[in-house]
Amino acid sequence: MVPFVDLFCQYKEIKSAIDKAITETIANSSFIGGRNVKKFEEEFSEYSEISHVIGCANGTDSLEIILKAWGIGPGDEVIVPAHSWISTSECVGNVGARPVFVDVEQHFYTIDVQKIEQKITERTKAIIPVHLYGHPANMIGIMEIAKKYDLFVLEDCAQAHGADINGKKVGTFGDAASFSFYPGKNLGAYGDAGCMATNNDELASVLRTIANHGQTAKHNHVMEGRNSRLDGIQAAILSAKLPHLNEWTERRRHNASLYDKFLSGKEVGLPRQKAGYKHVYHLYVIQVEDRDSVQQKLRERGVETAIHYPTALPFLPCYKHHQNKVENFPISHHDQSRILSIPMFAELTEEQIKYVADKLA
Ligand SMILES: *Cc1c(COP(=O)(O)O)cnc(C)c1O
Repeated sequence: MVPFVDLFCQYKEIKSAIDKAITETIANSSFIGGRNVKKFEEEFSEYSEISHVIGCANGTDSLEIILKAWGIGPGDEVIVPAHSWISTSECVGNVGARPVFVDVEQHFYTIDVQKIEQKITERTKAIIPVHLYGHPANMIGIMEIAKKYDLFVLEDCAQAHGADINGKKVGTFGDAASFSFYPGKNLGAYGDAGCMATNNDELASVLRTIANHGQTAKHNHVMEGRNSRLDGIQAAILSAKLPHLNEWTERRRHNASLYDKFLSGKEVGLPRQKAGYKHVYHLYVIQVEDRDSVQQKLRERGVETAIHYPTALPFLPCYKHHQNKVENFPISHHDQSRILSIPMFAELTEEQIKYVADKLA
């Protein structure tokens, strides 16, 4: 049996540090805000090479709070890739604006820079590139367009902690970045958690205010905000895990290289990595004909897989009113019935990888 992901396996490796983090938080009662959150924010700021990190409840909130801080709302449009997790477009609708979908690049699952300009109107305010599966989007091309049309860029880094382009980390290209620490992400808490990151001092202070009931100081509510905070136990767990992230990432990359080797020459579309781009393999996504039956047969042989995501965003029931046409999103539409995420986590053994590759072949 090869599980899709095994979070307990990681816990066993660092059990004493995690248990200590939890019991210490309980002992000093720093459940909301306080020293643990501040410590993790500083550590993650250093790790991501972005000057301000503001913890919040989850990655979805983080996207939405950033759009709110920029004043994006009714009448505005935000450009998002057609292929992503719902959060990327949901945040746009939830501030009252309209998500405008752009197809992804063939073979890369990230927004196609060639197709962005044709979707820009006077109402366009921002672009949300997603570094999907852990492979960076073409940030150089995106920033050029954003500059030309004066648009905000919000990098959705939920699946790409530590990924980079020629050594420059994702999250440092745009005006702001959003990270998720959902348990299964490359850096995961033991519950929901996320953060916002920016080099802009003024924006950082607005983000912190919105996420904490619009307070600039206790009981000084300068606006209506919301309750979206990183809790102390999650922050302590994240601090205990962060020192291992680089090593875990290298293990994911090593595992990916083993899959690449074992699956090369087979009738399987393999994930690609652009020259100079560092893929952190949050997911190892292959393409196969007859995907559903392949998935079923793997399951029968004890290999657990998943699909990220079975329906591209423009074709979801919640966007039916957009009347999105298949011919406008040919790559996303082509991919949605062929993609299959096979087991990927740092602790996978070479034997497990070989087993999966053999069964797949
Ligand atoms: C996980 C994820 C999010 C949202 O994160 P949550 O913490 O689950 O709210 C946003 N975007 C992408 C691409 C994700 O994979």
